[in-house]
Amino acid sequence: MNNETAPIKDHFGRVLKDLRISVIDKCNFRCTYCMPKEIFGEDYVFLSEKELLSFDEIIRLANTFARLGVEKIRITGGEPLMRRNLDHLIAELANIPGIKDIALTTNAVMLTKMAKKLKAAGLERVNISLDAIEDDVFKDINGRGVGSSPVLKGIEAAKEAGLGIKINMVVKKGMNDSQILPMARYFKGKDIILRFIEFMDVGNHNGWDFKHVISKKDIINTINEELPIEPAEENYYGEVASRYRYKDGEGEIGVISSVTDSFCGTCTRIRLSADGKLYTCLFASDGFDIREKMRQDELSNDALEQELTSLWGRRKDRYSEERTEETQRNRKKIEMSYIGG
Ligand code: SAM
Ligand code: SF4
Ligand code: SF4
Repeated sequence: MNNETAPIKDHFGRVLKDLRISVIDKCNFRCTYCMPKEIFGEDYVFLSEKELLSFDEIIRLANTFARLGVEKIRITGGEPLMRRNLDHLIAELANIPGIKDIALTTNAVMLTKMAKKLKAAGLERVNISLDAIEDDVFKDINGRGVGSSPVLKGIEAAKEAGLGIKINMVVKKGMNDSQILPMARYFKGKDIILRFIEFMDVGNHNGWDFKHVISKKDIINTINEELPIEPAEENYYGEVASRYRYKDGEGEIGVISSVTDSFCGTCTRIRLSADGKLYTCLFASDGFDIREKMRQDELSNDALEQELTSLWGRRKDRYSEERTEETQRNRKKIEMSYIGG
């Protein structure tokens, strides 16, 4: 961390450590649980160039956040690889004093062409989303009829480029619970960590219902019956995935249980949308429009720092701990494709 400023704390004493930057709201997939085709159709209006934060604006914000204690940056979207010249942005982010780690979340379809360039720019790790290994299941999920092989090629390219890789699989009952074991079998022993994510009640359009959630406990039991696992210790403070290692030594898996076993107490993340709104929680209804402040008010760097400090200081979010039937159904929530997960 940078020594100029003390780490800032929110209302509950949680420090700010991670910045997630969504660089685009468009995507080349239409995953049924994230951007259902019926809503994100041909006539859906995405953000215009002018509405997107420019790279200069993103870098200015990232610099300020780094001064306030942010050490890790994750680039996401939509599909972040669809943002032109993403490697230029990564190169500049990698040069910011205090930033120790830059990662990217992607569906990996465009990674075959870009992995080397991104690594050279300073990217260290990728989280690749893959919800099924069997083509028929995956084609139905991504809404574009794409089989798993373009993603597997993207994974291969990331490996060759020397990027760290984790695979993220959202598990939804009836959609891909049949794929828990095939995915585990496929990645076991390949030196790649597969992480299962409980289906979350983000957004307003994915028809979320608790009965679609397969709990961490059920995921663990399913795997353990065929491929014995045991709990492994946390890697670092605030790690969101619970880790389990295969008893035969062939690697590990993770489970992210934001529904059945939440982790708000150690949540050190702030999220920046592609159009410059800051969200202090994935389940927030509204964001803080920092783009307008920067564009209209010609904020000085000190004033910008104060705005961000005060926003984090006011933070009382702990949605997953407070989740009730009422909040699930009636609260307006931002879309996952807009905020990036
Ligand atoms: N397009 C990129 C990708 O899919 O990796 C980055 C953006 S995507 C919104 C980020 C992550 O959010 C993906 O791993 C996706 O599976 C996950 N996600 C989207 N909707 C979700 C939901 N309702 N519950 C849990 N995870 C979700
Ligand atoms: Fe696109 Fe990622 Fe959402 Fe799928 S999960 S629709 S790849 S943003
Ligand atoms: Fe953080 Fe909000 Fe998720 Fe809790 S619900 S872990 S505060 S993003």
